[in-house]
This record gives sequence, C-alpha cells and structure tokens, in this order.
Amino acid sequence: MHYAAIAATDGQVNSFLALSRERAMAQAEKIDNMAARGEALPALAGVPVGIKDVLAMQGAPATAGSLILKGYCPPYDATAVTKLEAAGAVLLGKLNCDEFAMGSSNENSAYGPVKNPRAMDRVPGGSSGGSAAAVAAGFAVASLGTDTGGSIRQPAAFCGVVGVLPTYGRVSRYGLIAFASSLDRVGPFTRNVTDAATVLQVLAGKDTLDATSSDRPVDDYVGALEKPVDGLRVGVPAEYFGEGLDPEIRAAIERTIDGLKAAGCVVKPVSLPHTKYAVPTYYVIATAEASSNLSRFDGVRFGLRSEEANTLSAMFRKTRDAGFGAEVKRRILLGTYALSAGYYDAYYKKAQQVRTLLTRDFLAAFEQVDVIVGPMTPTPAFKLGEKTDDPMEMYLADIYSVAASLAGICGVSVPCGETKAGLPIGVQIMGKHFDEVTMLRVALAVE
Ligand code: GLN
Repeated sequence: MHYAAIAATDGQVNSFLALSRERAMAQAEKIDNMAARGEALPALAGVPVGIKDVLAMQGAPATAGSLILKGYCPPYDATAVTKLEAAGAVLLGKLNCDEFAMGSSNENSAYGPVKNPRAMDRVPGGSSGGSAAAVAAGFAVASLGTDTGGSIRQPAAFCGVVGVLPTYGRVSRYGLIAFASSLDRVGPFTRNVTDAATVLQVLAGKDTLDATSSDRPVDDYVGALEKPVDGLRVGVPAEYFGEGLDPEIRAAIERTIDGLKAAGCVVKPVSLPHTKYAVPTYYVIATAEASSNLSRFDGVRFGLRSEEANTLSAMFRKTRDAGFGAEVKRRILLGTYALSAGYYDAYYKKAQQVRTLLTRDFLAAFEQVDVIVGPMTPTPAFKLGEKTDDPMEMYLADIYSVAASLAGICGVSVPCGETKAGLPIGVQIMGKHFDEVTMLRVALAVE
C-alpha cells in the first residue's frame, strides 16, 4: 500500500532515492507469519519506515545525496537500521537529503530537490527533507533523519510532522556517513508524539560500535507520556523572540505557551545570553569537522572515480571536483581554513570556547526550568529557489536550531498550528541532557 502511494505521487515529491522492495517484502512476510502463529509482535511490527540516505542499509545504495557516492552500496547496516528492523519495522528504502546533510532546504541534493507535500512550490526544509516529506505525504509512518544543526527539527516544522533530536550519545551513530561527528545525531520523524516516543524507545541505547554512545539506562518514553504536565516549569528565552521572527509564528508559539499554562505548567522567562553567537560558532565547528570527515572521499575507496587523470593526485582532485557540489566544496574550504595553522586559534579554538559558553547558558537555565520552549524556525517553509543564491541567508535561518546542537541537549519540533496561507508551524521544546522523558511529555501536551 505504501509502495503504491510512492509510485503514484513520489514522482512529484522526490522523497525516495531508492526502494528496498525485496527486503521490505521479506520482512513483511516474516511479521505476517509471526502473527499467523499467534506470536507476540514487537513494538514496530509491520510499520513502514524510510531511511535517510546518509545511513547505511545493506543491499541499498547510500549516496548521502552526493554524486561522489554514486554506486556505493554499504555491506552493512547502521545500528539504528538494525534496531528498527529487529523491532519489526518494514524498511521501504532510502530518502533524499541535502548533500552530506549540508543544507536547510534539500536543494543541495545531487538528485534534485524534494518538494514540501503541504505546499508543492515550497521546500520541505533540510537536510532531512526527504525524511520529513515522506512522513508528511503518508509514504511512510515514520522515518529516520539526522540532525547536526537542525536537520530533523527544521524540516519537521516545515512539513507539519514531529521530529526528535535525541541527546548526543543517546542513539548510536554507527553506520552514519559523518558530517560533523561532535554534532551528528540520528532521530525519528513521525506523525505524532506517541509514535515518536515508540520509535525513540527502539533506537536509544548503548552501542559498542559507537564509543560516543551512552551507557545510561534508557527511560520508558512511552510510559512517561501518561504523566500529566502540571507543575512542570517551562522556560521561555527572550533571545528566541527577537527581530526576524515571523509574526504568525510568534503568535502561534505564544498561544502554545498559553496552552501549557492552562495545563498547569509554570511559565518563566529564562535567558540564553550567547544565542547570537550560535550560528557563527556552529558554522566554524561544523565545517572544520566536515573538512576532516570528507577527506576520505578520494576516488579510491568509495563510489565515483575520475577516469580522466593519469596521476594519483590528479585523480584525487578530479574526483573531488566532479563529485562534490558547490555547498560541500564551500564548507570544505571554510573548514580547512578554520583549522589551518595560522587561523586555528582565532577561529576553531575560539568557536570551541563559545560552544562551552552556549552549553553553560543551557545548564544555568535548566537549574530553573524543566524544559525550554520557543519557535523552531524564524519563517515558515520558503519557496523553492528563494534562498539558493544566498548561503548566508540560508545559514542565518538556523538561528533557533544550532544552539541545542552545540550544547548536546535534546529537542523536538511539534506542529502547533499553521499560517493563514496554510503552512505548518513548529514549536521547539528543548530538554536537559538525557531528559527526553520530560521533553516528550510537554510535546504531547502541546500536540
Ligand atoms: N542547516 C544546517 C547546515 O546546513 C544543519 C544541517 C544538519 O543539521 N545536518 O549545516
């Protein structure tokens, strides 16, 4: 049924890059047989799920939205993929995204942009645009995305679905094609908060294949949703309501906060004074890490290899020149510059120091409140092509997402209304490190 929907309309949306029919059918048959035998079914039995193309899925191509990985089929599964399938999910295929997860509109994919199913002349957000669009369009019940500086939460807001950024270390990154390793996280897109808690329950936990995954016990996310939110302290950061925030979004967020008050939450102002440095700090650290992570794409080990070269170094150059798109090249240059001997102290080291200040802002605020609530994006989904000529403008729109990424805390975007023109609006709820439980309880209350 889901493949039929994809065949009927994904030609326009462009969310799937590859379908994994055989694997999906084998899994569906296995679940059917279990049901026929009357066996207890696992949490995600038969649930159709799509996977962002930066995650490895054995037998399916993994392009990361890039030409340089064309033809690369990883011989193994990412841990998040293994866990979904072990929980009964039916893996439909691989989802379009910005090249190497760099972007906010899905227009940086080498395989064409994704369209927002809620408004086909608009972007779905990025970089996990395909993952958000596939759930919004009903092609999948859930999907996996990755979020380095907003790439789950922002497209969730643009497409009117739920997107969870788990705490750094909560979900294994094994099998994820790295963009910025100290920031990259894997998390789910779903249509509602209860489904998000159910999928996160499956994904979370220690993985010996990812040394940065945490061995803290996993909480009962689904069970916790039953607890009411009255008495919870909700922080509202003034810095998230400044200039540039669309008035319709501001009004929707204020209404949501009023709703939490009515549900018995205690609403308090909090301050995150370094917020204005979050975007520049993020773009120094993320590009620095990307320049290092992307050095492995040299034409030798994976995917594309230029046949035009007659020396090894020319082969490296020509492969990287033909394989990487403009945004990826821009970031490799920026990151290499920030890490170079003469500039390291001025840029990379300084950015790491500001990252600490941004983290301390959150730790101080979380001494007074249980969650922090604010807008997810300064504007609703913009028109395709509207910002492609201005990378700075695109970067500045990440203002509300990148601070949580740098601090390692958890966050979720939940639909909280729409504009007069019918475009979805997302509210962001940020939680303490490893306190997904409280964050999801508040998310359910605003849904
Ligand atoms: N928009 C941000 C960027 O372009 C975030 C991307 C992401 O989270 N992967 O880097």
